[in-house]
Amino acid sequence: EEDLVSTAMAETHLAKPRLQGELQRTVNQTKLFAELIRNGSWVNAIIDTSNDERQSPKPDIRQMQIPLGVVGVFGASNFPFAYSVAGGDSISALAAGCPVVYKLNPGHPETSKKVAAIMANVTAEFDLPKGVFTMLQGQDYDTGNKLVTHPLIKAVGFTGSFKGGKALYDAAVKRDEPIPFYAEMGSVNPVFILPQMLKQKTAELAEALVTSNQASLGQFCTNPGVMVMQKSEEQKHFGDHFNELLRKNSSGKMLAKNISNNYIKGIEELKKMGAVEIGTGTGEKGELYSTPEMLGTDANAVLNNPALLHEVFGPGSLHVAAQNKEQLLNVASHLEGQLTVTVWATDDDMKDYGELLDIIVQKAGRIIFNGVPTGVEVTAAMVHGGPFPATTDSRSTSVGTNAIYRFTRPVCFQNFPDHLLPAALQNNNPLNIYRNVNGDYTMNSIQ
Ligand code: NAP
Repeated sequence: EEDLVSTAMAETHLAKPRLQGELQRTVNQTKLFAELIRNGSWVNAIIDTSNDERQSPKPDIRQMQIPLGVVGVFGASNFPFAYSVAGGDSISALAAGCPVVYKLNPGHPETSKKVAAIMANVTAEFDLPKGVFTMLQGQDYDTGNKLVTHPLIKAVGFTGSFKGGKALYDAAVKRDEPIPFYAEMGSVNPVFILPQMLKQKTAELAEALVTSNQASLGQFCTNPGVMVMQKSEEQKHFGDHFNELLRKNSSGKMLAKNISNNYIKGIEELKKMGAVEIGTGTGEKGELYSTPEMLGTDANAVLNNPALLHEVFGPGSLHVAAQNKEQLLNVASHLEGQLTVTVWATDDDMKDYGELLDIIVQKAGRIIFNGVPTGVEVTAAMVHGGPFPATTDSRSTSVGTNAIYRFTRPVCFQNFPDHLLPAALQNNNPLNIYRNVNGDYTMNSIQ
């Protein structure tokens, strides 16, 4: 564990506690999937029994999920463990029964090789076929493109930038045999702060959001990059306090040179589009370094130029001031697909702004109430996904046990004798879930 963490620290410049936590999360999510497959209920067995009495006799039909085949996986630079070699995409594909071919992320090659060696040891120890997990070490686009277009690959899980995700998605759907391509990409994770809540908790909110925005130098896909409020005295106080706190945050080494360069370029572009610099952090400058930034603009500018709401990956935030409620709702309506949208509100706020929920539920995979978007719980109910461009398939999640369904498909067996059916579909299996006997559906309890 020590060795893995110190290798990842040297390659990613992320802090030790952050990496220790991420490694633990990676182990826990592996255990969660192990539990899921031991339990067996993930196959979602559905049993429709026959009815010979019906005028046109009804056949016996039984459905379950089966693995899709070999899965290609691309990990992201900002999660050297949890979205990497043995990360959520690889583990959910393996749990489904799919062999994995992993494309190494050039942001942490040595860490990847060490985790891949652990995977190889486990494969040998349990006498699994060698091809169950393979890592491609090419550090170029060509390797990735060859992986996505290889005829044996039947699905891909990708975590990374919009540019990379979209390029590889296009390659996947242009194949002679198109395949499902699940890309989890960037997001600005907008935070709407409603007037009463802003009045009640001005300073507290600024503290919570600066902390979330600056965690790991903003290098989280769930980083709250856009804050939206109505113009008011409290909104001004919030901005002043956020700025004051931001100035106490110093610059730091980003994951890689290209990520730092893209951040600096992204902030410059926001300024060219009219966003105004409100405050910056302090500290060292130079190659790899990025400085915290707080920018401001008004809702009109955002409504006229949606590019202001594109992700700038790093420790920056854009604060959007709306003239009134209508304009705030209008900003929400103009959002692109997001991984998360957060609302800070009192009960009274929600009486006035009920519509906001109706709008944002259409925009994101996870809606957060009076909290921060960073920190993704790995649990059965989690949705880490959302409408395009946050992902290429809004019906899926890349975190939590439902991530397995990206790599399965349903198949049904008609009129099979019980002993020839897969065990999950046989009559005496306590795990088959829906059972329809003569039109009467019942749900078996899961052991
Ligand atoms: P990235 O630059 O997109 O790289 C990810 C992988 O994609 C790398 O292996 C890279 O290969 C490959 N790639 C990129 N562009 C390609 C292209 N045009 N053709 C073929 N392959 C290509 O992303 P990253 O810098 O590692 O990660 C940071 C980004 O990930 C941020 O935008 C962040 O928001 C996002 N992210 C999203 C989530 C989520 O769950 N949605 C989680 C974490 C991070 P090579 O570089 O080896 O060629």
